[in-house]
Amino acid sequence: MARRVRFRDPGGGDDLDDGLVLWFPAPKSVTGEDVAELHLHGSRGVLAAVMAALSRLGLRLAEPGEFTRRAFLNGKLDLTQAEAVADLVAAETEAQRRQALRQLDGQLGEIYRGWGERLLRLLAHLEAAIDFPDEELPPQIEAEVADGSERLAKEIERHLTDGHRGERLRDGIAVAIVGPPNAGKSSLLNQLARREAAITSPIAGTTRDVIEVAIDLAGYPVVLADTAGLRDSADMIEQEGLRRALKRAEEAELRLFVVDACRSEDASGAAAWPGPDTLLVANKIDLATDRDALPAGAIPVSALTGEGLPALIAALASRIEQTYDIAAPVLTRARHREALETALVALQRSLTAGLPELRAEDLRLTWRSLGRITGRVDVEDLLDVIFADFCLGK
Ligand code: GDP
Repeated sequence: MARRVRFRDPGGGDDLDDGLVLWFPAPKSVTGEDVAELHLHGSRGVLAAVMAALSRLGLRLAEPGEFTRRAFLNGKLDLTQAEAVADLVAAETEAQRRQALRQLDGQLGEIYRGWGERLLRLLAHLEAAIDFPDEELPPQIEAEVADGSERLAKEIERHLTDGHRGERLRDGIAVAIVGPPNAGKSSLLNQLARREAAITSPIAGTTRDVIEVAIDLAGYPVVLADTAGLRDSADMIEQEGLRRALKRAEEAELRLFVVDACRSEDASGAAAWPGPDTLLVANKIDLATDRDALPAGAIPVSALTGEGLPALIAALASRIEQTYDIAAPVLTRARHREALETALVALQRSLTAGLPELRAEDLRLTWRSLGRITGRVDVEDLLDVIFADFCLGK
């Protein structure tokens, strides 16, 4: 319900502002409680007066995340959705926004809830078989439970082997710039950062050997890392730089291997990272006299003149798109991964446990771990299924 109102101090009767009130009666509000939204002229004077009047009524400012927390406690959101609110607020690129919105829609929680329900059913059947052996339960129950558990374990396993795509998309896709010294790696990083940097921020913990810049590359969050030049050296500090560069390059999702276009023999170093995740870049194309002599498959650019950079960006974006443009909901946090891994271990253990009681205990542990992801763990759920599926109690 929306109403145009004069805001008046309930104590002194002073007019405070002229505006709008939106009233959302419980339970159909964002938190599930009665919610009133005051739309005010946002000046400091109006805010101070209205806030003072509200606090005289015993109201206070919300704590960080309090609305979302109340929404969760009132069953309006599950935990993955609450996390999605935080991600949506923090989203810096299109891809992050899309992923957070999908999660807010509940698609991720849906998967886990679905698994939880299946598990609950398996558990309920097994418990019933244990607790009520004299009742007329179908004899194939145990086989069904084993079969169902195995299928579920396979699904969880598949979900976990997603290459950390959701987490990467949330935190930034690491792209390492590697190559021999003086190939123009730093220059290329500067060029890419300047062109694409909607957000250019140095990241804490950088060393003088590895410099990182967060950029928005065609809608994807990318963390570009410029590494120390790769070359054999007797200098201890340089060796350490080299070690870090190699480690960073190993860990990165993608690599740009940059060589000087006039020294195409350097391209052989790229062989250390075979496969589609390393793009070979021939820099200083402005100096190259014979462009036909470039290493095969290299993307020609000049970090000095900017030539070829759009093509390089397009190639990088298309490589990222292939991996990260996913419609299916993926897990986005280490928290989800840990809980799923714990669930999977228990589920797999249940398959080899000898006694039905032990199997049931492992299924219960699995179910609890799954429930922790969405924040719904409730023994009542188990009782509900037990008593709904079998007419056992009298
Ligand atoms: P890094 O050691 O690989 O990081 O290389 P730098 O980015 O420091 O570049 C080494 C030298 O090459 C510098 O003097 C740059 O100005 C120069 N340089 C880098 N890119 C280009 C380019 O595309 N064309 C030309 N002519 N010079 C370049």
